[in-house]
Amino acid sequence: MSDRYALHALFGGTFDPIHYGHLKPAEALAQLTGLEKVTLLPNNVPPHRPQPEATSEQRVAMVKLAISDNPLFDLDLREMQRDTPSYTIDTLAALRRERGDRQPLAFIIGQDSLLTLHKWHRWQDLLSLCHLLVCQRPGYRSEMETPELQRWLDRHLTTQPQVLQQSPAGNIFLAETPLIDISATEIRARRHRGESDVDLLPPAVSDYIDREGLYRNL
Ligand code: ATP
Repeated sequence: MSDRYALHALFGGTFDPIHYGHLKPAEALAQLTGLEKVTLLPNNVPPHRPQPEATSEQRVAMVKLAISDNPLFDLDLREMQRDTPSYTIDTLAALRRERGDRQPLAFIIGQDSLLTLHKWHRWQDLLSLCHLLVCQRPGYRSEMETPELQRWLDRHLTTQPQVLQQSPAGNIFLAETPLIDISATEIRARRHRGESDVDLLPPAVSDYIDREGLYRNL
């Protein structure tokens, strides 16, 4: 029997809106690591935090349009369907229960998120539930904030994609994904200024933003 399992990754985000800076690195990651599925996991933003400009329904609609013709991706709405803040660690624990102890699970983040990971709820437990796949992002340094965090990173690093398939969790893979200088903030700002966002996100998403009149006013 093979000691490899299909590698499945979750990719959480606010997706206000989803853009090529999410989609292209995830596609490249799939090539680099043999990922079979990337499940997009839109966040529920709790009421006391700054709210996305798009509603939850609009953010989900945009994700659906962005992935409709790409079988690599699917969508998990469990965080959106809760009224309470959902922590990544709890979502991962629920998935781990559903999928069993041996299935490799990964969570995708950009380099900016890696640098602030130590602010996440129970961040040190994340690697007991999943691998972390980190996409490069222009403008963010590659060293961690403190020597202690750097040591934590170095301890868990792997450069071997097959390790991700052979173990259920516990490794960090810094992937050489294409550098894509796009953020949702920039797309919203361009829209506020009445500028085009063409080339930054799929045309179907851009058309939806037009139709819904999103990101027009501050
Ligand atoms: P905002 O500008 O509103 O903060 P964002 O563009 O950073 O949004 P999010 O939905 O907050 O998008 O990001 C979700 C995840 O995608 C995070 O882990 C983030 O690091 C990653 N990500 C977003 N944009 C990029 C990009 N251009 N390259 C690599 N990773 C990215």
